[in-house]
Amino acid sequence: MINVSNIERFATHDGPGIRTTIFLKGCSLHCPWCANPETWVEYPVLMHDTKKCVRCFACQKNCPNMAIHFDPEFKWNPQTCQHCNTCVENCPLEALEFSGKSMEIEEIVKIVLKDIDYYKNSQGGVTISGGEAFVQFDALIELLKTLKKHDLHVAIETTGNYSNERIKRALPYIDLWLIDFKHIDKEKLQKVTGGDYDQIMENITYLMNTCPDQVIIRTPVIPKFNADQKTLCAMIEYVSKYPVKEMDLLPYHSLGKSKWDKMHKKYMYSDLKMMDKSELLDYVEIGKKHGLKIKLGG
Ligand code: SF4
Ligand code: SF4
Repeated sequence: MINVSNIERFATHDGPGIRTTIFLKGCSLHCPWCANPETWVEYPVLMHDTKKCVRCFACQKNCPNMAIHFDPEFKWNPQTCQHCNTCVENCPLEALEFSGKSMEIEEIVKIVLKDIDYYKNSQGGVTISGGEAFVQFDALIELLKTLKKHDLHVAIETTGNYSNERIKRALPYIDLWLIDFKHIDKEKLQKVTGGDYDQIMENITYLMNTCPDQVIIRTPVIPKFNADQKTLCAMIEYVSKYPVKEMDLLPYHSLGKSKWDKMHKKYMYSDLKMMDKSELLDYVEIGKKHGLKIKLGG
């Protein structure tokens, strides 16, 4: 079994061609701009839509485990919740839904194989994303082995925040690594994301040395974090020492904000404007000068 947040068919980002993207639950980082904060924990998360809720308290009254209360705002206790779904079924306004569920590997592969003709015709395949896929490591390896038995092109989107041994074990089953490089400054990366800088850099550098033609470096460009010219140029210069496929600069967006709201968590970037790709055009030229292909967007 593996905990899944979502499965998106006919995805055209996160790797070549038409793909199915499997979003796995669990993450060891806590980036404040995260578009999928519901994936941070491995268990299913109850999402509550304040805009739909009329405070009838049917969810609270019907919960057999007293996992919901209002004080005065909606509060859900994941420690006592048994995921029985009674609250969701009793809400008259469809203001509640669970995000995430446990699935059999075979069940996932069955969904993936529905679109095999599209993958073949477009040189597409499967992308495993998250959260951080390596959190559920044993189940991930089982999933990868099963996908490769069907001769599928497999890409993985990852933070690199785990032991190098894990990368080595997963290496034979992965055709394309989309690995995050969020900041070149150790203190900033650790303070803001909670990641282990030395571990992440060891893994990025290992992949860039071992299989550069299978590596795409991805940098979310975040105002007040890494969007200044000095930082981005230093990162481009570092990556350009290796013959990787490309470096993707992902302009900041706030599309995940509604998820933070539904989890009753504060979204720290509410006052920031979304970035436009055109704001990053100069870096394409800077990359060219260093012999590095830079793509804007994923
Ligand atoms: S899923 Fe069941 S246990 Fe969990 S909050 Fe809803 S009613 Fe309560
Ligand atoms: S049952 Fe639905 S509408 Fe009623 S209080 Fe709960 S979430 Fe709000």
